[in-house]
Amino acid sequence: MITDYERLAAMNKDHLWHPFTQMKDYNNSDPLIIERGEGIMLYDVQGRAYYDGFSSVWLNVHGHNVPELNQAITEQLGRVAHSTLLGMSNVPAIELAEKLVGVSPEGLNKVFYSDSGATGVEIAIKMAFQYWHNKGIRGKTKFITMNQAYHGDTVGAVSVGAIPLYHDVFRPMLFPSHVIPYPYSYRHDGGEAGALEDTLTALRHLLETRADEIAALIVEPIVQGASGIIVMPPGCLSQMANLCRKYGVLLIADEVATGFGRTGAMFACDLEDVSPDLMVIGKGLTGGYLPVAATLATDEVYEAFYADYQEQKTFFHGHSFTGNPLGCAVALASLKLMEERNMIEGVRAKASFVERKLAALKERPHVGEIRQKGLMIGIELVRDKISRETFDWAERIGVRTSLRARELGMLTRPLGNVIVFIPPLVSSEAELDAMTDILEESIIHVT
Ligand code: PLP
Repeated sequence: MITDYERLAAMNKDHLWHPFTQMKDYNNSDPLIIERGEGIMLYDVQGRAYYDGFSSVWLNVHGHNVPELNQAITEQLGRVAHSTLLGMSNVPAIELAEKLVGVSPEGLNKVFYSDSGATGVEIAIKMAFQYWHNKGIRGKTKFITMNQAYHGDTVGAVSVGAIPLYHDVFRPMLFPSHVIPYPYSYRHDGGEAGALEDTLTALRHLLETRADEIAALIVEPIVQGASGIIVMPPGCLSQMANLCRKYGVLLIADEVATGFGRTGAMFACDLEDVSPDLMVIGKGLTGGYLPVAATLATDEVYEAFYADYQEQKTFFHGHSFTGNPLGCAVALASLKLMEERNMIEGVRAKASFVERKLAALKERPHVGEIRQKGLMIGIELVRDKISRETFDWAERIGVRTSLRARELGMLTRPLGNVIVFIPPLVSSEAELDAMTDILEESIIHVT
């Protein structure tokens, strides 16, 4: 008799192609098959429990199977599951748009929905491009991005991406973007000040010489995520924003990973009082429940599209599920819970707890740097702490650490040699304590 697990594992192997996964490796491993979740725990079909130590890819806010969020969906389900936003509207989409404008940085007054971070980025890029076109300013067609940036996997988002492992193979089919250095202080000879200076100098130079051909700068504000949770030096984002304003280039803030309290502010832009022209949100927007994303725009951007139809300034973009009522209803419920639970203040307190807890880990021989902003944490492992020599890629130190954490009851997914710890915002101190213990034990075991 085969078990349920064996049956599912065999079907998984036969038919399922997983994202960002080398299937040859995966099919030679014991697949983890999740059956249910409760609080910040996930349970597999064999009944084993795991802490969700990376918030199911950086998006979980309130935990799993949350009564208030479940109720918001079922109530909306009793009304209508989906109706289009093409030329008509629905109640939760309207209410959520108003709510989002209220919590977003000053000036962002219009909401355009989509269904994933990448599609939100796609929209921001197209809006920025068409904004200049609609204003009759020709030639501002290019984008600036940052080294090692990640903005999603659709073709436009990959065009402004700069992680060679993910993006280089597609280069021939992409539009080229200008790439400026990201301030990676840990690996810069001049440290934080030197890294900051390099970034600002490169941006300033590009803007001084080529602003007339540049539509926008796209940036992951304060924390660059997929490159290894790399935190900008203080003042970097606001100085970049000032330069964009000075030279007439739009600023697109990609808050897909950093939004909704993750960094200890509602949005990372708030940490430096930055008001972008376009802002992309996703992941935590629905508390991590359903695939809704949005691109927020200023009135200035919106008005460039607002014209008589024959002027041909319409933004011809949309998806079948744009503004899905179930997703918008759960996003509204998630934002309400965040407010009721005073979650952002809570994140700051929890972040300090984690920082104190991880301090001892800094002394370990193979822990190069612990980077943290709010509850977004990356631990870079190195072979040699003094020279900062990296572990060889083939040693898969990150993967092995994550596998050990899984054995000890916590899920996470590494970024190369960087161990990622992005717990659900709702995690209690006791849960954070238990998870950081597992992290520490896994790192010590593997290194
Ligand atoms: N932008 C950033 C900064 C991200 O971190 C991600 C995903 O991790 C995306 C965009 C893409 O979002 P999605 O996976 O929902 O398409």
